[in-house]
Amino acid sequence: MTTPLEEEIRLLIAAEGPMPVGRYMGLCLGHPRHGYYMTRDPLGAQGDFTTAPEISQMFGELIGLWAVATWQQMGAPAPFRLVELGPGRGTLMADALRAARLVPAFGEAARIHLVETSPVLRVAQARALAHEERAGARVSWHARIEDVPAGPAIVLANEFFDALPVDQYVWTGAGWHERKVGVGAQGQLTFGLDAAPSRMAPALAAHLPPPAPGAVLEVMESGPPRALAARLATEGGIGLAIDYGHAGGHGDTLQALKAHRFADPLADAGEADLTAHVDFARLALVGQEAGLKAFGPLEQGDFLARLGLAARTDRLMRDAAPEAAAAIATATRRLAGTGDGEMGRLFKVLALAHPHLGTPPAFDPSEEFNR
Ligand code: SAH
Repeated sequence: MTTPLEEEIRLLIAAEGPMPVGRYMGLCLGHPRHGYYMTRDPLGAQGDFTTAPEISQMFGELIGLWAVATWQQMGAPAPFRLVELGPGRGTLMADALRAARLVPAFGEAARIHLVETSPVLRVAQARALAHEERAGARVSWHARIEDVPAGPAIVLANEFFDALPVDQYVWTGAGWHERKVGVGAQGQLTFGLDAAPSRMAPALAAHLPPPAPGAVLEVMESGPPRALAARLATEGGIGLAIDYGHAGGHGDTLQALKAHRFADPLADAGEADLTAHVDFARLALVGQEAGLKAFGPLEQGDFLARLGLAARTDRLMRDAAPEAAAAIATATRRLAGTGDGEMGRLFKVLALAHPHLGTPPAFDPSEEFNR
């Protein structure tokens, strides 16, 4: 069955020719009427995927304590902007603010800014933060990073950058040819390659090892990372990106998820989650170009261990009934374990910090990013 968005994409291709993968991905996720995030809350057991803050309150709590330590290291600016990019159901922010009550001055100084395009998820976020708002938290919403008011900021982004559109180029032996979405003989959407080599791709691939035929170069949309880096460089502060990804290399990582299973990225346009693995090397380079220092990427398991995941787990288990205690232990394994389906190694953490900040909490000076 074709979706309404697929009909629209076919008309666009008929009028303008095959479209870049990034354009396709951008339409699938962000089309104002039919885009995946515009029409639904995709998170949780009933949805298409589950994220770390939805697995356990411990995740947001530990990030909240990291934010407090970072704020103190910044010199405890008041006010400051506590920003989250793509906050989903608002769970991470709610857990972080609750944990941060240990240091009341942090909550008093924080102005909460949520950067979110989805009207459905904005409602969920308002609900999740209602309690904090009644307790005095000041929360506002923005469509873009650029719209967050000036001032030093701590910016959190969990599973945000994987939702940014990527363009793809395939090495044919003679050049990088852009991969595009076109319409096949039976009227179905298909991938194809531009006949002429791309003029942009060689510069984008310059930092990578020489490609073998068939190698895929993926290039993330750079607007949001550049906006974030520019803002941190002029206003001060730090950004923390947590996501699945790698630190550079070739590969096609475009993936569709539907009801917790991998699906065909060209099927069900607008009805499946489309993501790509985050290229942390590119994120780090964008930050460094703007004058920031980049730290990591660290594996999520290591990062959470340094923030005290083991102690927090023990504490919660001690207070819990036996069944709940088992669930807590399971959650800890999912967040930090290194096995199949566990997040500890697949997920990475990168910090982009204003140079005045020094080494951010939970990182080591030797972990400054160096290509
Ligand atoms: N951080 C949450 C949700 C991750 S899903 C969690 O960990 O549970 C991705 C989030 O990014 C959703 O809230 C989605 O609506 C939002 N999003 C996707 N693309 C966006 C964009 N271009 N600008 C702002 N928000 C976006």
